[in-house]
Amino acid sequence: MTGRPTILLVGAGHAHLHVAARAAEFVRRGARLLLLDPGHFWYSGMATGVLGGRYPSSADRLDPAALVRAAGGDFLAGRVVGVDAERQVAHLADGGALGYDRLSLNVGSEVAALPAGAAGDPDVWPVKPVANLRALHRAVRDRLADGTARLEVVVAGGGASGCEVAANLAALGRSCAGSLRVSLCARGDRLLPAAPAPAARRLASHLARLGVAVLTGAEVAAKDGGTLRLADGRRLRADLLAVATGLRAAPLTRATGLPWDERGGLRVTAALHSEADARVFAAGDCAHFLPRPLPKLGVYGVRAAPVLHRNLLASLDGRALRAYRPQTRHLAILNLGDGTGLATWSRLWWHGRAAMRLKDRIDRKFMAGYRAIYSGRVAGSRLFDEPQRRTEAHRDRKA
Ligand SMILES: Cc1cc2nc3c(=O)[nH]c(=O)nc-3n(C[C@H](O)[C@H](O)[C@H](O)COP(=O)(O)OP(=O)(O)OC[C@H]3O[C@@H](n4cnc5c(N)ncnc54)[C@H](O)[C@@H]3O)c2cc1C
Repeated sequence: MTGRPTILLVGAGHAHLHVAARAAEFVRRGARLLLLDPGHFWYSGMATGVLGGRYPSSADRLDPAALVRAAGGDFLAGRVVGVDAERQVAHLADGGALGYDRLSLNVGSEVAALPAGAAGDPDVWPVKPVANLRALHRAVRDRLADGTARLEVVVAGGGASGCEVAANLAALGRSCAGSLRVSLCARGDRLLPAAPAPAARRLASHLARLGVAVLTGAEVAAKDGGTLRLADGRRLRADLLAVATGLRAAPLTRATGLPWDERGGLRVTAALHSEADARVFAAGDCAHFLPRPLPKLGVYGVRAAPVLHRNLLASLDGRALRAYRPQTRHLAILNLGDGTGLATWSRLWWHGRAAMRLKDRIDRKFMAGYRAIYSGRVAGSRLFDEPQRRTEAHRDRKA
């Protein structure tokens, strides 16, 4: 391509928020940074809190258009449906096409599979996109509004998202006039398969205390009207079904013509570009990180972001790219809807109000940082770059 190089960021995911906030660095090099997304960024860290009623939905939302424009970049509302990597063109859902010099995908993930008969059913709520949880909050409130209704909600999936969703549905039920019964169906014989067993036991007993009926060995196989059929033949009533049975990369990663992994997404090297095309980058849930597959968690997109940002700039300048070295452990804190949180860090765990306070602080800080940029209170570099510089310097010393 000739003229002013275009860096096209597709999807306002966690990593692209970071790059978008630094659009000025691309503009200073004579490039155009264009962020393309259908609309708002919804933050999963606070989404279950919106479901449970702890936060208003506005607390969970960022405006990526305002963010990138405040930093000197451009925004286009739209959805990319395919990429012609050879011609360096992205095709849009509205029939348009955009050329690029560098393309970066941060388009997230979707629920990998729905039970038979559930697709298109308005009473089925996949947990992705997480904005669905805000709509589920409203649907439950509306149905319980007259104070006499009895509502049965089933959550499929005994991992972190399913447990958080179930706990926050129970919290929502406590604040509504009608009666809400929440059941959680886990396919395995315990909750949170990746967490320490004592933490999973504490979670199961706490959910029971919150009024959630926990069923283990209960794989939801099919939905037929208001009835669920489990894989072992049991039947359950479900007025609403929330599905949290695991994520796979967003569909766009299968429409680029570049190598992809069925669940993981676009196959990327340690430098976060496609193994087949060094002009196409990907980060977050839509990237299958070849050195080692990473959990589909926002925190990995956040940590990859500084490397993505540096490598997009370096790639434009013809400089050497850096490797992303993901952390081997991560802190996870589940919001249990009653003011307590369950925190896990490798084999360590704790449950209580302090864990939830910590989660609340981390999440609010993340959101406030970006809002401060587009409300003009602070420049992106001042807010984020000093702690990041210190982390990178520390890593470089260790390497
Ligand atoms: C209930 C729940 C709770 C969770 N809690 C946590 C948590 O506390 N901590 C944590 O680390 N992780 C959590 N996760 C996981 C987290 O949601 C994901 O890992 C994270 O959102 C992935 O971020 P991302 O940056 O890859 O993409 P996302 O943040 O999902 O952003 C993707 C963006 O791309 C856009 N997009 C998608 N397709 C296209 C397209 N074709 N064209 C243009 N734009 C497109 C979307 O609209 C969206 O704005 C949770 C998940 C769930 C379901």
